[in-house]
Amino acid sequence: TIDLRETLSELIHLLNRLVGEKIELILSHDNDLRWLRADKRQLEQVIMNLVVNARDAMPDGGAIKIETRNMALDVPLRRDRASVPAGEYVAIRVSDEGTGIPQDKKQKIFEPFWTTKRPGEGTGLGLSTAYGIVKQLGGFIFCDSETGKGTVFSLIFPACDNDS
Ligand code: ADP
Ligand code: MG
Repeated sequence: TIDLRETLSELIHLLNRLVGEKIELILSHDNDLRWLRADKRQLEQVIMNLVVNARDAMPDGGAIKIETRNMALDVPLRRDRASVPAGEYVAIRVSDEGTGIPQDKKQKIFEPFWTTKRPGEGTGLGLSTAYGIVKQLGGFIFCDSETGKGTVFSLIFPACDNDS
């Protein structure tokens, strides 16, 4: 079981190095945030991939927000052909103020090797890896994006008690 607050505060120095000085990282947590069951290294990998993408989408700088919150679903949440069963979850949102993703490209982003970056700048594996890890942990990943405004990636994991 993992305390996301702890994991993220350990990771924040590395994330700050990754994004550089033009980008501000803003971290905020829900009160009494629930825990989740995950491999810490894999979860860190997912968050790093999302933050690197957010950075790359903001060449002129800006802010990246990482927010955590408890989420209770009374009814299943249906989105993008996925259905999140009713239950208790921990959610992480990574949002940026970058270029956004055009509507017609949104279904491509989780495919392996799909990239808009130049050779040497991206492999197209970041999001497919993130997707695989999140699925394996019993979680969900969704993307909301508006070109010219920014992008939000939401991760949703089943919550668990910290003594289990
Ligand atoms: P890579 O970063 O190596 O290109 P990813 O799988 O991480 O591969 O991302 C695939 C593509 O999705 C990126 O090339 C980019 O076009 C798009 N993308 C991902 N995250 C964002 C984001 N936060 N803002 C804008 N575009 C994004
Ligand atoms: Mg990437």
